[in-house]
Amino acid sequence: MSFEALGLHVNIIRALTDSGYTKPTAVQEQAIPAAIEGRDLMVSSQTGSGKTAAFMLPALHKLATAEVVTYDNTKTPNQERQSARSRGDRPRFQAAKPKMLVLTPTRELALQVTTATDKYSAYSRRIKAVSILGGMPYPKQMQLLSRNPEILVATPGRLIDHMESGKIDFSELQMLVLDEADRMLDMGFIDDIEKIVAATPPTRQTMLFSATLDGVVGNMAKRITTEPLVIQIAGSASKHENIQQRVHFVDDLSHKNRMLDHLLRDVSVDQAVVFTATKRDADSIADRLNIAGFAAAALHGDMHQGARNRTLDALRRGQVRVLVATDVAARGIDVPGITHVFNYDLPKFPEDYVHRIGRTGRAGRKGLAVSLVNHAESMHVKRIERFTKQLIPVDVIEGFEPKKSPAPSRSAARKPNGWKPGDNRKSGGGAYGNNKPGQRSFSKPAGTSTGNGAGPRKEGGGYKGNRSNDSGARRTFGDY
Ligand code: ADP
Ligand code: MG
Repeated sequence: MSFEALGLHVNIIRALTDSGYTKPTAVQEQAIPAAIEGRDLMVSSQTGSGKTAAFMLPALHKLATAEVVTYDNTKTPNQERQSARSRGDRPRFQAAKPKMLVLTPTRELALQVTTATDKYSAYSRRIKAVSILGGMPYPKQMQLLSRNPEILVATPGRLIDHMESGKIDFSELQMLVLDEADRMLDMGFIDDIEKIVAATPPTRQTMLFSATLDGVVGNMAKRITTEPLVIQIAGSASKHENIQQRVHFVDDLSHKNRMLDHLLRDVSVDQAVVFTATKRDADSIADRLNIAGFAAAALHGDMHQGARNRTLDALRRGQVRVLVATDVAARGIDVPGITHVFNYDLPKFPEDYVHRIGRTGRAGRKGLAVSLVNHAESMHVKRIERFTKQLIPVDVIEGFEPKKSPAPSRSAARKPNGWKPGDNRKSGGGAYGNNKPGQRSFSKPAGTSTGNGAGPRKEGGGYKGNRSNDSGARRTFGDY
């Protein structure tokens, strides 16, 4: 497949050749023709897969074809003001009327998108793209807007300021892009986004890009798109490959509690969610952890919505470090600081396991999910493994060895039913799973775990297992 075959304008092809792009990436191959047709898109695809060009190339194509560019942008703002003056009008600022709006979570990303756009539109002279960002001096922003750019790239907060002061008019907007939508939601931009979307014409084409289309992002995507084409390019994020998983066997409750305390004290724990089977346990464990000096809070279905919201806000602000929750609370939690998920109890259903561990590793970050399991629950672990088509390595922490231990070496032979080596991605396939030698192992509490490196279990847990050889990667990361 070539860029020509996707039907792009020759000026764009020329720019791509200059940029050294020889063929479209997977996401571009699927998104570009549909976007040219005018379809709405919901796209999940991993970082670095070429999403910017996937929305910007079809947009540039549409803007470059005359039918779309309808308004007269040949007059400079000064000429506009002069002709307004000669008509006897008071000179005033003409609101910018962009054809395309790209929303991004951060200034850095907005600048990246604008730079890429300049590159792709190097031969499309009439098309201007500008970024409107927080922190940019106000006169500079006004000057950029006064050029009446076709393409506006902006972070939501600053854009709202300009909308409210009448500097931007979306009545001619044809295309709306939400880039890294999941991150924008993580950053709390949902209300701003809703407001911006409401200010655009319902006839617009909407394209949403995200690392995941689950949960809150998916719901928003469905709300703001019309009959979207859903494109999901399998990648590490959708398979949770950036989340390392581990099982620790425990003998009894006291063993389990001591192990939990120990794991929570690991320096790599930024914020954590501990899942319990019952609301009572959620409350009592949160109390116990608070007494032990953790900033812990409970979250479960018996709490009033107001209390739940306050707890989640405190979690988002980092005031709560350990959230102790039941499954009912599991799905909505979307906090980037959560580095660890602990299953104090295993979930009743394997699909809940997947939702639980998805609370960590948000937006492509690394995460660690640890399950504390009684020997009697081994079958339960196997069911989860069958469901996820992934093996969960068993690990042993020095000083916390279970008395009754399933020999670690045996665990290497455990395979879920229907699992074949060929089912798995090849070693090092994930963008996040590989620790460089010398890098601090995410999962290893300093000097305590024997699961990595020189311990008895060479092929076992920790990100290191993935870097070293095929078998490590194979056992750790399978397909969902
Ligand atoms: P994403 O938004 O999916 O993380 P980007 O759009 O930022 O990815 O692209 C990642 C990198 O890949 C950029 O450096 C971009 O220039 C490059 N790139 C994008 N598409 C192609 C292509 N078709 N061929 C070669 N390089 C590409
Ligand atoms: Mg991107």
